[in-house]
Amino acid sequence: MTKGELIDIIMLMLRRFLQSLKDILYPKTCLACKSKVSTVTDEDLVCKKCYSEIKINLPPFCFSCGRHLEKNNLNKNICPACVRNRLHFDRAYSPCVYDGVAKELIHEFKYRGRDNLGKPLSKIMINFIKEYSLPVNYLDFIIPMPLHKTKLREREFNQAEILSMHIAKEFNKDSISNILLRHRQTKTQTELKNKDRFLNVANSFSVDSRSDLKGKNILLIDDVLTTGATSSEAALALKKAGAQTVFVLTLAN
Ligand SMILES: [Zn+2]
Ligand SMILES: [Zn+2]
Repeated sequence: MTKGELIDIIMLMLRRFLQSLKDILYPKTCLACKSKVSTVTDEDLVCKKCYSEIKINLPPFCFSCGRHLEKNNLNKNICPACVRNRLHFDRAYSPCVYDGVAKELIHEFKYRGRDNLGKPLSKIMINFIKEYSLPVNYLDFIIPMPLHKTKLREREFNQAEILSMHIAKEFNKDSISNILLRHRQTKTQTELKNKDRFLNVANSFSVDSRSDLKGKNILLIDDVLTTGATSSEAALALKKAGAQTVFVLTLAN
């Protein structure tokens, strides 16, 4: 272990300790609307009202990106955005719409280090898999969307990895995070326009040459799918390495 790594670990432990101390000294508040929550179970990270306000992604779904398909596109099975940009994964799914409470929670989870949000958020994804009978039995393994190591240092943890581990455990699968590698530090996708997002992530993933993905069926996990550019590029790298099927599951889209 290098000195830098040791310092990282000590800092992480210190931050966790201070967070627990804060939780004791101050009563819990709803992470979305900030009102007081009386009990402290995982589910109570948001109040009942906010939980009920999470926007659910309703069928019919686009056969590519997984967004709700408007009536006038029903005959095509694919939304106009997916007609314009061919996505390399086989199909993406999301239980929630990236808006309101879901957006707020993902933001807390991602940028404010609320790693205890992983369990309740992955539960929403697990319930979706069960409700829509997603073909988990055919999966060989589950892969979290990797973060570039600079970003991993900033955020302390990869939120996709936490979601992936909970989901894999539920279905007796393996969550494997050292196969898919992320290279260049791409600009934050949120700052870019649609077309530039696809250019920004081009060739930014590769697969560890020691792994054998030939004929494998993979589920890729991330928190949000926006244009689908990042997931698509990751799926392309997995497919070039021999993967047969790549499904994508994100909490929201
Ligand atoms: Zn609330
Ligand atoms: Zn679509």
